[in-house]
Amino acid sequence: MSTPTAAAVYTRISADIEGLGLGVARQREDCEKLAAHLGWPVARVYSDNDVSAYSGKTRPEYQQMLEDLRNGEVDAVIVYHPDRLTRRPLELEQFIQALDAAKVRHVKFVSGDADFTTGDGLLVLRMLSAVAAAESASKSRRVKRKQEQNAAAGLPHRGSTRPFGYEPDHITIREDEAQVYRRLVERFLAGESYRSLAAWLDSEQVPTVRGGGWMSTTVRGLLINPRYAGLLVRHQQVVGLGVWEGIISEDQHRQVLAKIAERSSSGRRAPQRYLLSGLCRCGRCGGKLFSAARGETRRYECRKGPDHKGCGGLTVTALRVELLVVDQVLYRLDTPELADTLAGRASADAQAAEWSRVVDQATVQLEELAAAYGQGQIMMGEWMVAKKPITARLEQAQRQLANATHSTALLGLVGNGGELRGSWGDLNLDRQHRIIEALVDHVEIAPHTSPGSPFDPTRVRVVWRR
Ligand SMILES: [Zn+2]
Repeated sequence: MSTPTAAAVYTRISADIEGLGLGVARQREDCEKLAAHLGWPVARVYSDNDVSAYSGKTRPEYQQMLEDLRNGEVDAVIVYHPDRLTRRPLELEQFIQALDAAKVRHVKFVSGDADFTTGDGLLVLRMLSAVAAAESASKSRRVKRKQEQNAAAGLPHRGSTRPFGYEPDHITIREDEAQVYRRLVERFLAGESYRSLAAWLDSEQVPTVRGGGWMSTTVRGLLINPRYAGLLVRHQQVVGLGVWEGIISEDQHRQVLAKIAERSSSGRRAPQRYLLSGLCRCGRCGGKLFSAARGETRRYECRKGPDHKGCGGLTVTALRVELLVVDQVLYRLDTPELADTLAGRASADAQAAEWSRVVDQATVQLEELAAAYGQGQIMMGEWMVAKKPITARLEQAQRQLANATHSTALLGLVGNGGELRGSWGDLNLDRQHRIIEALVDHVEIAPHTSPGSPFDPTRVRVVWRR
């Protein structure tokens, strides 16, 4: 067989190639290298861009190549892989016919050993083509279904906002943001909280992608996203490598995930630090007050800034408010009104116990999964998939629990407020908090009337649970 004098190089980019890093440029480069190695002069490069061969749309360059083969303009074909040439068995037959008609036997692939010169080679190619066609068909069904889901949920087909650290093409790295991301990961692995990281980003005046300030949830979202390790996610599963470069290594990403799992499992058992934690509200803006110590004095204060949507314009001395609220709670325990309210809650409590069991069980399962991933017993994709239903169950149970009445904390106490007054100081903070929480919906703190004046008890208004 004579050496070809005019080889055709065929490249094709399509949606299905995303994730393989096989851009047209790379296909072409590899094909030209092979041509040089074989000593085949390349006469022309044919390139179809972003067209799926499966869809049946015409590929003008491919058609041109078949035409040129028939006319004898080219006498050899080099393609990266058989699946670039065609993904439909019928097209493969057309291609083989074109080769036969032109008596061209020189066809080479950069990857794959298919050989057109023997009957066996043709058989292998036909099988490959049939498999590829089946894959394409099922892939296009899956993609379509996902698009329908997205549309139903109001989600865009493709993320419209660029990811932090990347240009709007979602591929090119923005070096300044990439550096910020690496620092973020380092600091997180060193033990910094999401909140403190958000404050740091704000203080460095790093803009978010949408503009505006940083929130803990934004920081967490960045940290947990596999794309920063160059991993491709489809249908909430890591399915392979993306076409873009990662900003951190896969190993670092794994460490981040392990740290996040560790945090979410230990965070739930954080001790109750203030008697009225989570119960006080700002009389100016309605926001939740946060506990804070200023030297010797404990306070509840309204905060603004990352994570805090308050006005930042109110503080109150913790001890005075706590004494007042405890006094009212103990009094309330002896009122007939409370006994009536509690009777209506009894049935809800049985359910609360069940929800609480679900929360515990789901938490243990998540910890076990994280450990299995950490020890390499399961892959990240499996971890993500397994996590989903458990997390959903956990969140639902937590919501139900939050709505539940907590009235079990009051067992044996109703009607005994007077006695409890004597022993209140012997109860630990957690128990005290639970009793108050069972009765109090929230405590509203009004703003100062005259700054600098002594504590005014009328600023405190207890709103009871129903
Ligand atoms: Zn406020």
